[in-house]
Amino acid sequence: MDIPQERKLVTEVPGPKSREWFARRDRAVPKGVGNIHPIVTARASGAIVEDVDGNRLIDFATGIAVLNVGHTAPEVVAAAQRQLELDTHTCFHVTANEPYIELAERLNALTPGDFEKRTMFANSGAEAVENAVKISRKATGRSAIVTFDHAFHGRTLLAMSLTAKVMPYKQGMGPFAPEIYRLPFAYPYRWPSGPERCSEEALAYATDEMHKHIGEENIAAVILEPIQGEGGFIVPAPGFVAGLADFCRQHGIMFIADEIQSGMGRAGRWFAIEDEGVVPDIVTSAKSLAGGLPLSAVTGRAEVMDAVHVGGLGGTYGGNPVAAAAALAVLDKIEREGLLERSRKVGETVAARFQEMKEEHELVGDVRGRGAMCAIELVKDRATKEPADAATGAIVKRCLENGLLVLSAGTYNNVLRLLPPITIEESLLAEGLDVLDEAIGAASG
Ligand SMILES: *Cc1c(COP(=O)(O)O)cnc(C)c1O
Repeated sequence: MDIPQERKLVTEVPGPKSREWFARRDRAVPKGVGNIHPIVTARASGAIVEDVDGNRLIDFATGIAVLNVGHTAPEVVAAAQRQLELDTHTCFHVTANEPYIELAERLNALTPGDFEKRTMFANSGAEAVENAVKISRKATGRSAIVTFDHAFHGRTLLAMSLTAKVMPYKQGMGPFAPEIYRLPFAYPYRWPSGPERCSEEALAYATDEMHKHIGEENIAAVILEPIQGEGGFIVPAPGFVAGLADFCRQHGIMFIADEIQSGMGRAGRWFAIEDEGVVPDIVTSAKSLAGGLPLSAVTGRAEVMDAVHVGGLGGTYGGNPVAAAAALAVLDKIEREGLLERSRKVGETVAARFQEMKEEHELVGDVRGRGAMCAIELVKDRATKEPADAATGAIVKRCLENGLLVLSAGTYNNVLRLLPPITIEESLLAEGLDVLDEAIGAASG
């Protein structure tokens, strides 16, 4: 199935059929399961989503960072179809399957670190995070976990407890998991004494806090997103991540890089942590790993992963063969088509346009990113940096009406983050950026 790679509106958005489906949705599905865009997808291909009314929208959201290689990439679909006919599920614990083992070998080789590794699979990002924590605790015999401001690690009890933002993720859902300690993240744009001092001060505070109030010998793991995703595509001040990793190494603390959003080429490398010169003990992957099929992975040092006794890890569906076969096709596609390089190229195009938008629109307070993981932070006033959350919402809505799917992010709901397929054609990328530019202009007025 191939949809022409062009934006085309045939009704208002949302159209009548989407509205009809949403009336049914409201009676059938709880409202807690939110919908960012009130349209219903009929099919999708490459960088285009076609809704049930026949509108074709440019996709800068990719199902929240899941389609780095584009929607329904033919190689990925074919690999999944092939596996679907061979074996859809026997459960890895009952009888093993080839794609699981092969994908584990591939991730062991692709993740940073020139040492023996092991990989286990689960179904969602949250589950990968849960397992990374379980493994760290078992391997160290310690219980405390350090997490950060603006962090997002998922929605299950432990992952939600690690996540920073109360609304909407945690409100009224406590009590939360114990032994979780939150420290400030080196967020250059909002660091009180300015971006130049951010890394040094954030690091000094974090290490002091771990020493004084938690105790190094009680900490099983520090978990961090090398570039924060839901928190607003925050690229930490240079040196902060490396400093934390050093501290962890000195004190036998597991350093977990949560690459669920930033990995698989999004930030211009297989894993964003590579640009920090840091080798983590454990890496979590999910989202773009299997090109739309549910799959997550925990990859780590062999001795750490093997610290868990037989039967201590796993689950019924983890590493489903269809999802694992799709993931192998995704990795092949990234390699074959040079998509890491392409991600950096997309990033350059976007960064140049963002810079222009910053010059043109007062509303744009900060532009940032790495590779194809780029964002704009919107403020009411550049001096006070008061978040322009309402304007951000209005921009997302106007983009939808004009045929562009874009997502907001950020603790203050004032960040526009771009997650186009890395494979997107230049002309379509430029057209999407035009739509965004116009919407920011309209919100500035
Ligand atoms: C999305 C995300 C998760 C959670 O993944 P789910 O599949 O939604 O459970 C965890 N960590 C990061 C960094 C994420 O972006």
